[in-house]
Amino acid sequence: MKPKLVIGNWKMNKSFEEADDLIIEISEHLEGLTLQTGVVLCPPFLYLELTTDHAEENEFSAGAQNCSEYSNGAYTGEISAEMMSEIGVEFCIVGHSERRKYFAETNQMIANKVDQLLKYGLIPVVCCGEQLEDRQKMNHFQVVETQIKESIFHLTKEQFETIVIAYEPVWAIGTGETATPQQAEEMHQYIRQIIEKKYGTETAYATYILYGGSCNAQNALELFSQQNVDGGLIGGASLKANEFVSIIEAAETVLKDN
Ligand code: PEP
Repeated sequence: MKPKLVIGNWKMNKSFEEADDLIIEISEHLEGLTLQTGVVLCPPFLYLELTTDHAEENEFSAGAQNCSEYSNGAYTGEISAEMMSEIGVEFCIVGHSERRKYFAETNQMIANKVDQLLKYGLIPVVCCGEQLEDRQKMNHFQVVETQIKESIFHLTKEQFETIVIAYEPVWAIGTGETATPQQAEEMHQYIRQIIEKKYGTETAYATYILYGGSCNAQNALELFSQQNVDGGLIGGASLKANEFVSIIEAAETVLKDN
């Protein structure tokens, strides 16, 4: 089993002072631990530099929650991948279901954002996941396959090997209703199979596929114990240092036991 990756998505939460406190608290918890698990904090844009400053002396990396699909120019309000790379941001979430829903983000826009991130050396964390109706109609595998094919299957094998995928069933995000470990595992296995068909076995097994959707300190251990779950994208539970650190500890436990 490869080391896990745990990414905290703070969404649009925390004041500047609260963000600073949370980063310091997480750092203090992680201090002195020799972690195998990769840890990434994704605060709102305004706190990214604060996060990259702290990241230099700590066991985590900084990630953004979105980026522009354009390089530069007259795109009022946008932040480019290049700007983020200049301040040391290493990861960027793209295609989160909240962006698909509230900002009309399409698979093509996500593909463009992935290209921008790769051009400037950032690691895209590409989200996919079905709505509840898709699952009820037994259409969930097809929906996720289409999202993946249209947003990342244009990449070369070398490019593909640098990205992270996050499977986040929309019905589980922020609802407290987590996918069962079996539901997560069968979708992760399915995603790995379609990657294998397109890019080969080695790439498929090396690709990080994270689970996201009401993952917390209570259920992380069982979710992360699944063969094809390589870690988690954590929303609400990443806003409390204790809870987030317990999730990281669950990832470490799974690795030690395997
Ligand atoms: C998310 O927003 O990516 C997420 C997984 O949220 P939560 O953990 O709160 O369900």
